[in-house]
Amino acid sequence: MRLVFATHNRHKLEELQKLMPPKIELVSLSDIGYSEDIPETSDTLEGNASQKSFCVYEKTGLNCFADDTGLEITALNNEPGVYSARYAGEDKNSQANMNKVLKLMNGTENRDARFRTVISLVMNGQEIQFEGIVEGKILHEKRGDSGFGYDPIFLPKGYDRSFAEMNMIEKNKISHRGRAVASLIDYLNNL
Ligand code: IMP
Repeated sequence: MRLVFATHNRHKLEELQKLMPPKIELVSLSDIGYSEDIPETSDTLEGNASQKSFCVYEKTGLNCFADDTGLEITALNNEPGVYSARYAGEDKNSQANMNKVLKLMNGTENRDARFRTVISLVMNGQEIQFEGIVEGKILHEKRGDSGFGYDPIFLPKGYDRSFAEMNMIEKNKISHRGRAVASLIDYLNNL
């Protein structure tokens, strides 16, 4: 089964290709020659995921899915949330984003946070959404250098290593995206 993953991010595509069952041929936007920008103007993860998958479905007619992820920090009223990529500015700099979080949380006792991923799958014009959550805490300083984004400052619940101190296989097993993708795969397997 051929399925388009509506992303331009090669890192994400490779991460997901490792999780997909063999019967799914996961192709990227570059694989199908799609180079236009995809709008992401909603103020919710659900809205953005939906906007992206419908945009690609409507322009290409191919079954596809899109995801959107945010880091929701309790003490910051669930910020950065849908604004995670650009929290410290339009250049999407991970170091600057983490520095901003650490500064805002300086002296804050409640370190509770979670990563949340929403996947929107559009097949033959019908949408279904899947969610994946991993609970954890924001560390007081960066730890580790694997992964990307906020990984060095996120300590998943029940573990003593940050996401950036885990390899990709370990992280995928418990991560927000891993969990959302597991639900997606379950659904595809049962079609
Ligand atoms: P996206 O919706 O997957 O592009 O994620 C938006 C932003 O959330 C990214 O630019 C990262 O800053 C952050 N993010 C998403 N997934 C992860 C993750 O697995 N680890 C750390 N940060 C992440």
